[in-house]
Amino acid sequence: GGGNRMQIFSDDMRVKVRERLAAEARLRDALAGDRDVTLPIWFQPIVSAATGEITGAEALVRMRTASGQILAPGHFIPAAEETGLIVPLGEHVLRLAVRHLVEWGDRLGYVSVNVSPRQLAEADFVPMLANLLAANAGLDPSRLVVEITETALLGSSLDVRERLEMIKSLGVRIALDDFGTGYSSLTWLQSVPADVVKLDRSFVAGLAADPRKASIIQAVLWLARSLGMSVVAEGVEDPADWQALRGLECPSAQGYLFGRPQPAEEFWSAFQDGHDT
Ligand code: C2E
Ligand code: CA
Ligand code: CA
Ligand code: CA
Repeated sequence: GGGNRMQIFSDDMRVKVRERLAAEARLRDALAGDRDVTLPIWFQPIVSAATGEITGAEALVRMRTASGQILAPGHFIPAAEETGLIVPLGEHVLRLAVRHLVEWGDRLGYVSVNVSPRQLAEADFVPMLANLLAANAGLDPSRLVVEITETALLGSSLDVRERLEMIKSLGVRIALDDFGTGYSSLTWLQSVPADVVKLDRSFVAGLAADPRKASIIQAVLWLARSLGMSVVAEGVEDPADWQALRGLECPSAQGYLFGRPQPAEEFWSAFQDGHDT
């Protein structure tokens, strides 16, 4: 409450505002086609528990600045959400993901793309997706997975369920991201026509040493299976947790244990090496 503290706080805020504005300006440049700032997508493998093989990958956006620095989404997604730039950014990510799916062929089963609630709320989202698929008619749409979080459902006036049904009718699959972190996860499961549940890292980390976590995961796995949904455990870092997940018959997993997000070319060459041997 003293004068000094107030001063520090406001300096801190000024820095934050400046960072936010810089992020926004860079985003605008990149989306306008400025070649100094680019928005590549990186890929993180998703593996099958049964075979240990990579069945798909999640596309995770990065920002490459003029100086060559790589920024994680935490540095620019919040600004993108606030300004609405998430809409063109999200479209850019989808286009890149589809381009890679087509280029790489069907040895890689699928690519999963994050779609923000704001993007989903756009009236143009489904037509844009339909056009993208129509322009890539050789692509099996089920090789594209759209990841949405529970916040898409909360506080939104739009009929999210209806929109998700439209996405599904295009043949695209739907994954519930960060499952278990929201407040109404069971409502979410009941009301959304999802194909995949992505179990949040907070449930997965330390699973092997925590019987309560194991019980919860077991229940979610059972529930998902009964509803005809697949499950991906997120953030698997520890071999003991992975062993426990396999013991519980979790069908697939993602995490540093299997691979970090990598630039597209690196991901693809590592994938091919894995398949040649
Ligand atoms: P997310 O969708 O939950 O993605 C998983 C995040 O966890 C990624 O962070 C990934 O690098 C990280 N991760 C994966 N495995 C592990 C692990 O074993 N341990 C730990 N500690 N972390 C792991 P990243 O790439 O920084 O992305 C952060 C978030 O940014 C994503 O969380 C997603 O919500 C958002 N995001 C990323 N790309 C996009 C995009 O294209 N559009 C939108 N709307 N959001 C995106
Ligand atoms: Ca995700
Ligand atoms: Ca997630
Ligand atoms: Ca997350």
